Amino acid sequence: MSENYDVIVIGAGPAGYHAAIRCAQLGLETACIDKSIGKSGDPAYGGTCLNWGCIPSKALLDASHKFEDAQKHFSEIGINVSGVEVDVAAMMARKDQVVQGLTSGVAGLFKGNGVTDLPGRGKLLAGCQVEYTSHGGEQQILEAEHVILAPGSVPVEIDPAPLTDHLIVDSTGALEFQSVPERLGVIGAGVIGLELGSVWNRLGSEVVLLEALEEFLPMADERIARDSLKLFANQGLDIRLGTRVIGAKVDAGAVLVSYQDGDGEHSLEVDKLIVAVGRRPYTEDLLSPDCGVNLDERGFLCVNDLCATDAPRVYAVGDVVRGPMLAHKGMEEGIMVAERIAGQKPSVNYDCVPSVIYTHPEVAWVGKTEQELKASGDTYNVGTFPFAASGRALAANDTGGMVKILADAESDRVLGVHVVGPQASELIAQAVIAMEFDACAEDLGLTMFAHPTLGEAVHEAALGVAGHAIHMVNRKKR
Ligand code: FAD
Ligand code: NAD
Repeated sequence: MSENYDVIVIGAGPAGYHAAIRCAQLGLETACIDKSIGKSGDPAYGGTCLNWGCIPSKALLDASHKFEDAQKHFSEIGINVSGVEVDVAAMMARKDQVVQGLTSGVAGLFKGNGVTDLPGRGKLLAGCQVEYTSHGGEQQILEAEHVILAPGSVPVEIDPAPLTDHLIVDSTGALEFQSVPERLGVIGAGVIGLELGSVWNRLGSEVVLLEALEEFLPMADERIARDSLKLFANQGLDIRLGTRVIGAKVDAGAVLVSYQDGDGEHSLEVDKLIVAVGRRPYTEDLLSPDCGVNLDERGFLCVNDLCATDAPRVYAVGDVVRGPMLAHKGMEEGIMVAERIAGQKPSVNYDCVPSVIYTHPEVAWVGKTEQELKASGDTYNVGTFPFAASGRALAANDTGGMVKILADAESDRVLGVHVVGPQASELIAQAVIAMEFDACAEDLGLTMFAHPTLGEAVHEAALGVAGHAIHMVNRKKR
């Protein structure tokens, strides 16, 4: 094994493995160190995203959605089924198979692209040296021209609800339940709470989400958050806002949760409790004290807009640095840093990072919310279009939600697009492309969308910005 590399990447999550592959594609001698071990006992590249995050959660979201559709909605479209049952063990096994396929796929991509994979731990020393400790415990000092730190994040734990083996769990534990809990509590009605709460709700759990904030999804557009809350409540998610959990303990095989809200103290008994109150940067034993990389007050690695740390030739990307903790944001940072190391000049457009919550309907957005525009005093026009008026959504029996477009009042430039509805995760890409190219709402209105598609709702909302959506009554002549 060579001890000198052009680039050493620490962490093979989406940020790190994208960086490593792009470096190798650009002809740089690259090694990637990652400590994750999969269920088979082998190294499992892909980080949180492939092992315990995006992919396993979406496998369960898709499977549970199909189950709920078959159970509750097939008869509405003339398909009668009986005896629809969940086989949790089979669902979990399939999820594990998808994870295994993708993590070994990353190992294959490393091999194919010539990235040296080093299973074990990496620690940055001064002068771009890296201490590599294999899983067997052998240590080696490696030299690099450049180092990219991509160690990711881990779930936040809270004192009132300490995790136990199987009853009080974090998101990783919630992806491993072996049966459907009759009663499920979730602390935190954020992205993970809603996604994993939806999975188990669809499979039959009674789900209560305890959210500290008075406001639901404060990062989303207010109108979209309000409509989403109604849709989720109709699905049976019991979302209790403005609650403060003060304790959780295991008693006779159940979990007793105590919490406070405006009406005083309450208790809730559940069979399992998921703690989903956010994630924090993971930097345990990553940095030697003299390596020159600094942390901010919240524990993130300090970087500039180009992901350079305070140490020369050391970069940091992904969840461990400022910005949203999203896989695609980390991927783009990883690619940018690789290309910068190779002498190119790309940058990441942090104004165009899409967010998606993979509930059903999905919630997705990019750019500014209406409340942000109001707060900054910007003038804007709004176009909305409900899926209830979309031919394709009606044909698919999936009409909840709407598209909302915000455009600058003077220039008509698209400032934000917000969707709650079927396939919102796919529709938002249209908005991201439009915003990347500085499109006006009129540009979207002049673009031809295939009929019948859900994308036509984006088209109609764009026409609605100027007040002339076709499938909505608007008596003003424009
Ligand atoms: P990570 O994916 O956390 O990877 C870091 C890797 O580095 C890990 O393998 C870790 O073991 C390794 N590592 C850390 N320190 C060291 C060290 N010193 N030496 C060696 N290796 C080290 N995001 C989305 O965009 N879409 C989603 O749908 C989505 N769903 C999610 C669902 C869940 C349940 C969770 C928990 C997260 C989800 N996320 C989603 C967030 C997403 O997983 C993260 O944003 C993303 O994985 C961050 O990528 P990363 O490469 O920065 O870090
Ligand atoms: P989050 O920040 O989305 O939600 C956490 C929620 O918990 C917030 O609403 C917060 O107000 C609440 N909370 C915090 N402390 C609390 C307490 N003591 N009691 C009650 N409520 C409390 O975080 P998350 O859902 O844990 O997700 C972590 C990260 O993972 C997010 O940043 C997200 O970007 C990423 N993620 C993304 C996706 C996706 O893109 N679809 C899916 C899952 C996770």
